[in-house]
Amino acid sequence: MKAYFDNASTTCISPEVLEVMKPYYLEKYGNASTMHQWGVDASEALEKSRESIAKFMKVKPRELVFTGCGTESDNLALKGIAFSTQKKHLITTQIEHPAVLKTAVWLEKQGFDVDYLSVDSQGFVKPETLEKKIRNDTALVSIMTANNEIGTIEPIEELAKITHDHGALFHTDAVQAFGKIPLMLEHVDLLSASAHKLHGPKGIGLLYVKEGTQLTPLLHGGGHEYGLRSATENMPGIVGFAKAVELAEKHMENEAKRQSNLRDKLIKSLESIDDSWLNGPRERLPNNAHFGFDFVEGESLVLRLDANGIAVGTGSACSSHDLMPSHVLLAIGLPPEKAHGSLRLTMSKYTTEEEVDYVIDCVPNVVGDLRKLSPLVRRS
Ligand code: PLP
Repeated sequence: MKAYFDNASTTCISPEVLEVMKPYYLEKYGNASTMHQWGVDASEALEKSRESIAKFMKVKPRELVFTGCGTESDNLALKGIAFSTQKKHLITTQIEHPAVLKTAVWLEKQGFDVDYLSVDSQGFVKPETLEKKIRNDTALVSIMTANNEIGTIEPIEELAKITHDHGALFHTDAVQAFGKIPLMLEHVDLLSASAHKLHGPKGIGLLYVKEGTQLTPLLHGGGHEYGLRSATENMPGIVGFAKAVELAEKHMENEAKRQSNLRDKLIKSLESIDDSWLNGPRERLPNNAHFGFDFVEGESLVLRLDANGIAVGTGSACSSHDLMPSHVLLAIGLPPEKAHGSLRLTMSKYTTEEEVDYVIDCVPNVVGDLRKLSPLVRRS
């Protein structure tokens, strides 16, 4: 049996999404900036897609900028704001995706002062932690909507309000939350999303930029996307993104319930393995479960489960090639040796109960086998 439990890293494309994309490769392949019929078809599809995603987000179409990915959206938000203001202070958190964290580190090298907020043992940013660090010269606060490793959903409304009360702008990386849980956009000035996390194509993202927000572009050129992202628009990607959002919206409530039930079944079963625990809170992203196991290496778990046809994650999806313990697990207070034995299981609308049961059968055996090989395990 094969079972894909790595949907936080990427998802398969929905057949309906692929279908709407095809004509934009084969027939309607015009450049949306040109005046002939091919171009008109493309530019109409561009604006229709923008309107449809804007409707889902309850924002104005003019406030959406299509980008190449979530990473680019995060870079555009942080660098774009940093280079548009006189203020020199930025705030983010210790548990952000590298697309935000590494951008913040780069901005420090350009002379900005950055504070990285700590989180509690479940990954929550406490409003008072933000209150303590925010200053008169804070330009931007960037806090993710939901964490990609441990599924914590941050109190974005409250954090964004505090930010506005202090005259700063608020950005949220919603790449993992978009289309899975309702978005709270009050007091949010910028939001990043990426299509490939919700059964859309890879290579297309968006940045919501609230009307009136000054942003310096990363790419200069033909002035596409209101001058904020020059480049011929990725039309198959954009129409695919809009279709993926439409499908996600249609199924969001039911899927949130269905996947939460599957998630809780996984949690109940896997946390009953000896010397194991759940990382992150119980109220979390519907599709995410994240466990720690003593005396086991996360990488060995990934490989052994892969040999059983099961795809899982460990640590951050995008940095799993480095063997450092996850910065998120260290930030919630796990010692490095406990942060190493981690397992992330993330589901999608295609995940079945049969697959969950298969994982529940396999994981205890794999953990048991690996522990037999570990010199660290307690033997009675
Ligand atoms: N932000 C978060 C929270 C993510 O999980 C990811 C990808 O895993 C990204 C940003 C980067 O998105 P993309 O792969 O579209 O660049």
